[in-house]
Amino acid sequence: MSVNQSGWRPEMGDASQAAQATFTGNRALMLEEALIFEIGSTETTGVDIDAAPKVASRLGNHARKGAIGLPGLSEPEAVRHYTRLSRQNYAIDLGLFPLGSCTMKHNPRLNERMARLPGFADLHPLGPIDTVQGALELIHQLAHWLVTLTNMDSVAMSPKAGAHGELCGILAIKAALEKRGEGHRKVILVPESAHGTNPATAAFAGFTVKAIPATAEGRIDTQALKDRLGPDVAGVMITNPNTCGLFERDLKEISDAVHAAGGYVYCDGANFNAIVGRVRPGDLGVDAMHINLHKTFSTPHGGGGPGSGPVVFSKALTPFAPLPFVEKQGDRFVLVEEETAGEHHADSFGRMVAFHGQMGMFTRALSYILSHGADGLKQVAEDAVLNANYVLRSLDDTLDAPFGDSGPCMHEALFSDANLAEGFSTLDVAKGLIDEGYHPMTVYFPLVVHGAMLVEPTETESKAALDQFIGALKSVGERAKAGDAALKSAPHFAPRRRLDETLAARKPVLAWKDSVAPVAEAAE
Ligand SMILES: *Cc1c(COP(=O)(O)O)cnc(C)c1O
Repeated sequence: MSVNQSGWRPEMGDASQAAQATFTGNRALMLEEALIFEIGSTETTGVDIDAAPKVASRLGNHARKGAIGLPGLSEPEAVRHYTRLSRQNYAIDLGLFPLGSCTMKHNPRLNERMARLPGFADLHPLGPIDTVQGALELIHQLAHWLVTLTNMDSVAMSPKAGAHGELCGILAIKAALEKRGEGHRKVILVPESAHGTNPATAAFAGFTVKAIPATAEGRIDTQALKDRLGPDVAGVMITNPNTCGLFERDLKEISDAVHAAGGYVYCDGANFNAIVGRVRPGDLGVDAMHINLHKTFSTPHGGGGPGSGPVVFSKALTPFAPLPFVEKQGDRFVLVEEETAGEHHADSFGRMVAFHGQMGMFTRALSYILSHGADGLKQVAEDAVLNANYVLRSLDDTLDAPFGDSGPCMHEALFSDANLAEGFSTLDVAKGLIDEGYHPMTVYFPLVVHGAMLVEPTETESKAALDQFIGALKSVGERAKAGDAALKSAPHFAPRRRLDETLAARKPVLAWKDSVAPVAEAAE
């Protein structure tokens, strides 16, 4: 049994050999699990009920022609299958989840308690308005705080994710330009330091995307942006803080220039958690910005729950904002579902969704805001930034920090693969982290940095938790710098080793067929 120099416990040996050595393929509590089709036979059924009496079918040609082809499992078999699979997941409730640009922070249980109150949880979106006054009041109150925290004019609550919010904002900009008779403005400027959803959104809405370069310090090249402004420019989409984890200090200057040139300013506010309580986008000249409730205001996401991406608007764009919105009339809350001439939303571009948005997320976000209070929210931003800087400065002697000299980072620490040994990549570091019991950080994003590793620790981690993570990443980073060959085949302790992730993403096999080859083999 070979023992490498990487500091693993020698008794572990080669984990893949150990796995082969057990009869079951299980490794203690890490259980090997086959596909449900491989466990259950289509020939059997897990339930034992009498055949239905023969009746004349009324299905006509909708009647099933062949066997249904689903595996028959008993209840305990089905429960075990899914429970076993669930244990192969990583979750924020298991440990630190350093995925950059995702804000995997702790979801307070108080929020869950509030969201499950039957008065909020058991509503029907078509319930008569008089029976849902409390829910409308909650939406109205959350809207009030979002507008207050951002110093904007109005908010559309219905968009269901960050990217959906971007589309909402861009559609409002489009409607405003068309109303002005300037629908010919077709160019949206997107800096290289913007999130990838920004150019995707602009293109989806029918605009042409022009990239604006980043400076050597990782911020927008303000002069290059100003030089590109002109009568064809509809607006800009700026992520702030940007994906290099830096605050765009020139945003006010940029907004003034864009407005002077007849354009609008969209700000990607998914990372509002880094500045909430400290900076108000309305003061920076922003016209529209989405807020990811599922990031900043801690509602579960990433398999744990749906997103919610309300969009705040400036006075200039409010008339074009989508319907519906909640309004207080006297002491009653109403849902305004139609444009009302002369009122706000007079020129609404329409609707984003069938109903009103994600009620469960609204309840959690308001619960988070009210339980933190003004001072608490400010501290959220400060601690998120402090933790990220602690990670950055603790690791910048091991990993290359490309913008380490650009001043403090915001809520994320960015590293590159610049000083890894020849033949070692960011992917090897990420896979090594899995053996250390962590979900890897975001890798190969942002694109402005070669082999990027983006770590977002969030404010909900203790110093002890950060120190352990830093120790793990330092250890894996040192191994990648020393050229430890064992790292090339990590993870050694996970249920699967290295899969062809590109093939899995490009040609996903989503339906089971007898003949489907496993992804790794299909890659050859
Ligand atoms: C997460 C994120 C988005 C997209 O949000 P979704 O809810 O995943 O659609 C957009 N921009 C930035 C900067 C983000 O971090």
